[in-house]
Amino acid sequence: MTNYKFNTARIHGGYIPEEHQNAAEVPIYQNVAFTLGDAEHAEKIARGNVPNAYTYSRVGNPTVAVLEKRIAILDGGIEAVAVSSGMAAITYSILNVAEGGGRIIAPFDLYGAALDEFKTLFPKYGIEFDLVADINDLAVIKRLIKPETKAIYTESISNPTTKISDVAGLAAVAHQAGVPLIVDNTFPTPYLFQPLKYGADIVLYSSTKGINGHGNAVSGLIVDGGKFNWNNGKFPQFQEKEFILKEVAAKEDYSYAGVFGNAAFIKRIKMKYLRLMGAVLGPFEAYLELLGLETIAERLDKEVATSLKIAHYLKQEPHVKNVYYTGLEDAPQAELRKKYFPKGIGTILSFEIAGTAAQTKKVVDAVKLFLYLPNVGDSRSLIVNPNKITHREVPVEYQAAGHLTDQLLRLSIGLEDSEDLISDLKSAIAQAFEEETDDKNQG
Ligand code: PLP
Repeated sequence: MTNYKFNTARIHGGYIPEEHQNAAEVPIYQNVAFTLGDAEHAEKIARGNVPNAYTYSRVGNPTVAVLEKRIAILDGGIEAVAVSSGMAAITYSILNVAEGGGRIIAPFDLYGAALDEFKTLFPKYGIEFDLVADINDLAVIKRLIKPETKAIYTESISNPTTKISDVAGLAAVAHQAGVPLIVDNTFPTPYLFQPLKYGADIVLYSSTKGINGHGNAVSGLIVDGGKFNWNNGKFPQFQEKEFILKEVAAKEDYSYAGVFGNAAFIKRIKMKYLRLMGAVLGPFEAYLELLGLETIAERLDKEVATSLKIAHYLKQEPHVKNVYYTGLEDAPQAELRKKYFPKGIGTILSFEIAGTAAQTKKVVDAVKLFLYLPNVGDSRSLIVNPNKITHREVPVEYQAAGHLTDQLLRLSIGLEDSEDLISDLKSAIAQAFEEETDDKNQG
């Protein structure tokens, strides 16, 4: 396909109408299986020798395939795989890289369920994590690298306090050690940041969030940069011979690395994890993701501008102690922000109430416009108290690094008018503090 720029690719990327009855929009192939033609043709398909042939929607579906091609184009990757949730994208990526056991370096201020999985579930599969307080402390990361280390993993913008990861620095350290850098790029989306351009090897998304943008489909995406050498001896799973590849490859080395070279990671996700473990994305959800992607630039430009206005308001609000939004001009990490995020860091920010846990709860209860729920990246503005809901799995000893106090609130900014959002917050905060004064007066 022609090498279109981002805004053209988000509308047209990966889709050729002539291949789909000239349908202008991507059709929803809401079917499980595809007829195989005659017996001889069917055998060829089964052997993997017919390009673009579909057989069964767990293995591949044309609607889902357009989403996969489009996201690979937008991120500058060679290929992508869509899965049924962001957690499935994380799980499959970690298993694929560290299958059979190994260690992974990651920050401990991560999305709560990811941290829970890293601490309590993956160790049961022989995958241990070296969790660090500051993923940008490259000297510490270098010291943690051991022969069993299989990858460095990070969130480009951390959830919930929007810390920026130094992707280029981490990629250099990872590559020196012969391991890939895996980046969860959920918060910025490929519109605001493309980690592959700065040396990341694998990018993953909860596309439930800003990529979809309308809070109507749970989904995940994994994108492969296609530059990592999986044949370097550290990853036996890519070098062992695979009988299902024997006939496709028709060559002596029928391992994933042997057959697919630098595309081994994504092919293996698709053929091993998606096909055999089955967390597949449905065609209707893929269609909703594609629809959301079409307006990603307009949505994010407006939401980022509103997020900044809200951060400015919160900075001067007397009942707010701290605002965590690295998109602010005077926030820490200005150099990384300028280097990686010229269009803004995203639509999520957090702030700490200068009051009690009870007053913080009252803010949550008093907002009218902000919806109280555990999601981000919707066209509606959202509020949540991470310590109680989205990050409740984070152990006490890790809470300080993520500023996870009972006074912390996370916002996800939607498409409403900024004046309405600010007045909603203002009145909720005022009520929380007035009621406290009233309670005292009455007591
Ligand atoms: N990664 C990040 C940064 C998230 O915030 C989330 C969910 O909130 C996930 C991954 C998991 O995504 P999903 O809910 O689609 O499984």
